[in-house]
Amino acid sequence: DIRVRFAPSPTGYLHIGGARTALFNYYFARKYNGKFILRIEDTDIERLKADSISQILSSMKWLGMDWDEGPEKGGEYGPYYQSERMDLYRKEVDRLLKEGKAYYCFCTEEDIEKEREEQKKLKLSFRYSGRCLELSEEEIEKNLHEGKPYVVRIKIPREGTTELEDLIRGKVSFDNSQLDDYIILKSNNIPTYNFACVVDDHAMKISHVIRAEEHLSNTPKQVLIYRALGYEIPKFAHLSMILAPDRSKLSKRHGATSVEEFREGGYLKETLVNYLTLLGWSPAEEKEIFEMTDTIEEFSLKKVSKTAAIYDIDKLTWMNGIYLRNLNLDYVTREAIPFLIDKGLVNKEKIEDNYEYIKRVVGAVREKVKLLPEIAEASEYFFKEIEEYDPKGVAKRFEKEGVVELLEKGKEVLAKTPAFDVETVEKAYRDLIDELGIKGGDIIHPTRLAISGRTVGPGLFDIISILGKDVCIERINRAIE
Ligand code: GLU
Repeated sequence: DIRVRFAPSPTGYLHIGGARTALFNYYFARKYNGKFILRIEDTDIERLKADSISQILSSMKWLGMDWDEGPEKGGEYGPYYQSERMDLYRKEVDRLLKEGKAYYCFCTEEDIEKEREEQKKLKLSFRYSGRCLELSEEEIEKNLHEGKPYVVRIKIPREGTTELEDLIRGKVSFDNSQLDDYIILKSNNIPTYNFACVVDDHAMKISHVIRAEEHLSNTPKQVLIYRALGYEIPKFAHLSMILAPDRSKLSKRHGATSVEEFREGGYLKETLVNYLTLLGWSPAEEKEIFEMTDTIEEFSLKKVSKTAAIYDIDKLTWMNGIYLRNLNLDYVTREAIPFLIDKGLVNKEKIEDNYEYIKRVVGAVREKVKLLPEIAEASEYFFKEIEEYDPKGVAKRFEKEGVVELLEKGKEVLAKTPAFDVETVEKAYRDLIDELGIKGGDIIHPTRLAISGRTVGPGLFDIISILGKDVCIERINRAIE
């Protein structure tokens, strides 16, 4: 049975690297009718951040990654918070101690510091010497009895290599001599990440561990823990790094990095899912725009890239524009409404009454924007009086000779049209243009400026039709008075 997990540490928001890891796990589970498990790795108490868990869950839900087991859902292998599984870790630590595969270490910080200094003189990178291995039963008993603080370390083979077959990277091999007897239980009785992770992946029957490349160096340590505990070793797949355009590690200074920030910045979830999927994977057919369901159908770890993915905000933003234009208009309208409210353009209480109007506005302005706040920006004059005409436009359009007369004529035509749909107003205007023998722009540009205050925007006849007869006439009057 395929069982995969996403195991975030709640130390902050869900960032895009984590979201991509979660997505690839999700695709893999859905593709093979497996289970997608969410496990919260909240043992590192010092680094925990309040709200982080609810933020992570909300970002996961927003992106559409519904988990089969985990927080809020429960499941056969719970609890799914590591902080609630301490007894299990302690039990497994005790088992290793009993079997002589792990040992108590009573070294103080000063002891360790001394070792570190000595090794440094020899230009060695620090590795614990293993001196507590030499303690006799009696000494151990005595120390424990006295309540001396201790950690538990695992015994690691001094020689040989630890190998694994990574589903993305192929064979990976590590020299055991590079490792030391690392800590599996800290002095505060809390297991280290490597230990808790292995115990849980086994207890939760995880078949494939798909995670970020930054954990690759942990994997041999985990393999040795699997062996010591006598567990079957799962398959591993390490996803390549996501780098900034300058190939440095992606960080805050490259702008938004959390899913929540993107959401607040006006990106659609469809865009984020699509874009993050492209960071390391691509469909057989050369296309860049595809949905979650397409990816699931085609997904395979074999097609996941070994090389680092470069994160490019411009491409993400470009892609958002494509989704804004092409997704169902009702959906885009609903997504845009909070941004319209935010800008004070529509009243929260009156959304449903004005919904059809709002929808037409969004339909018109979405053609030229990339982010949801830009929809709000571009649609101001549909909801508010014009406060200022674009000064460049004024010089070029309003101050031209004869423009007042032209606007008068345009106004008359609009006043007379029997209907106010796009086709009728356009036909009326075109007839007028023919009759006067002028160029279309001679009247279209000043009319646009008069009724929108701007020189660019959606098609003029769309604007006219949406605003309606009364507003258009009023605005033209104001422009020529
Ligand atoms: N809690 C770890 C992290 O957030 C999980 C790593 C893993 O998937 O094993 O990086």
